Amino acid sequence: MAGAADPLGSVGVVGAGTMGAGIAQLAIEAGYEVVLFDVNLAAIERGRSRIRTGLERRAGRLDLDPESAEAWIEGRLGRLHDATTLAAVADAAPGLVVEAALEDLDAKRAIFRELDARLPASAILATNTSALSVTAIAAATAHPARVLGLHFFNPAPVMPLVEVIAAGATDPAIADRASALMIAWGKVTVRSADSPGFIVNRVNRPFTLEALAILAAGRATIETIDAAVRGDGFPLGPFELMDLTGIDISLAAAFGIFERSRADGDPLADRFHPSPIQERLVAAAQLGRKTGAGFYAYDETGATLGPTPEFTPRGRSTHDGADPRILERITLAIVNEAYRTVGDGVASPSDIDLALRLGASHPVGPFQRAALLGGPPAVLASLGGLAGDGPRFVPAPGLRAAV
Ligand code: NAD
Repeated sequence: MAGAADPLGSVGVVGAGTMGAGIAQLAIEAGYEVVLFDVNLAAIERGRSRIRTGLERRAGRLDLDPESAEAWIEGRLGRLHDATTLAAVADAAPGLVVEAALEDLDAKRAIFRELDARLPASAILATNTSALSVTAIAAATAHPARVLGLHFFNPAPVMPLVEVIAAGATDPAIADRASALMIAWGKVTVRSADSPGFIVNRVNRPFTLEALAILAAGRATIETIDAAVRGDGFPLGPFELMDLTGIDISLAAAFGIFERSRADGDPLADRFHPSPIQERLVAAAQLGRKTGAGFYAYDETGATLGPTPEFTPRGRSTHDGADPRILERITLAIVNEAYRTVGDGVASPSDIDLALRLGASHPVGPFQRAALLGGPPAVLASLGGLAGDGPRFVPAPGLRAAV
C-alpha cells in the first residue's frame, strides 16, 4: 500500500461532488491521507457520506464480520480531512491535487492559479475536466509543466479507465509519473492529447448522436435502436444510456465537444452538432431516470414502463419499417471517428480500443471492429454506401490512406 513512505505524501481533491467524492475514495483506498475541499460545506458532508457508502460496498465484498467491517471503514474514513479553503488544501502539502469542481473554465483557472501560487513546484496539479482545454487551465498558472488532465469515469472507484492528458506545456515526465500513480491506484491508463472530448467522449459521440439522427429521420423507434445495439453486446442501448446518465449531462457534453471543435477550426465540427431532440427534453425537464421520465418512463422503483408518449410509435408495431442498418450506421460512424482521432494525433489505435472497451463498455474496440468488418477497404466501401447522410460518414483521411 502507498502512503506515508510514498514521496507523493497526501492527496488534495477540489470539488466534493459525484466525481470528487469518488476520486477521494480511490485515493483513500490507495492508502493516502486525503484533504477534500468544496466551496459548499453541505457538499463536503454529502461527499463524506457518499465515500462512506462506497467504502461500505467495498467492505461488503471482503467477507468481514460486522465489527471488523466497521473498523475497516472507519480506518479509511480517518484518512479523510475536510478543507474549507484552498489555503487549507495547500497547508496539507499534497503531492497531487485533483480538481473535480464545476465544469467552468474561469472557475477552474482561478482554482489552478491559487493552488499553483500556494504549492511547492514539486506538486502535480490535475484536472478532471470532461471537455475544457487543459492547456487553457494550465495557462492560468506560472508552472504549466506540472499541470495535466486525469480524466476519470463515473463512478470513479469502479470504472477502470483513466485518460491521462498531456497539455501543450505538460512535462512528459509529469505525465509518466501521474500515469504510474494511477496504475498503482489500480487503474488502466491511456494517453490522449488535449483535444475536444479526449478519446472516449469524442470517439463515442456517434453512439448517441447517430442514434438520435436515426430516430429523428423516422428510421426506427428508440426500442428498436436500443435492441439492435444491445444485440451486438453493448450493455445498454443509446437511449437507455442517456436516460441513465441524465439527458442534461449528455447534452452538456455534446455542446462542450461541438463548441470546442468549432473553436479549434475543425471543418467537420457539424458532425458533433447536438440533437434538437435532447434540447427539447432538457427544456421540458424530462431528464431521464432522475426525473422519472426521459426517452422511457420509469415507476418509483426504477422499473421501465416503456417509451414516453412522445417516443411511442403510433399506428404501427414497434419493429415495422425499421432500418436494418441501425447497428451498422452507429458502429461505422464510431470507427470513422476513431480513424479521425488517430489522424489528428490524439491517441494510438491500441489506446483507443482499450479506452472504448473500458470507458464506454464497447464489446470490441473500433479498430478491432474495423478488422472484423474486413479491414479498411471494407469499412470505406460501407461508408460509401452512407455517403450523403451527413459529415459523420465522410471518410477520415487516415482511413482512406490505410486502403
Ligand atoms: P458535481 O456537480 O457533482 O460536483 C461539483 C462540485 O464542485 C460541487 O459540489 C460544487 O459545490 C463544487 N464546486 C463548484 N465550484 C467550486 C470551486 N470553485 N471550488 C471548489 N468546489 C467547487 O459535478 P461532477 O459530476 O462531480 O463533475 C466535476 C467535474 O468532473 C466536472 O469538470 C465534470 O465535467 C467532470 N467529469 C464528470 C463526470 C461525470 O460523469 N459526472 C465524468 C468525468 C468528468
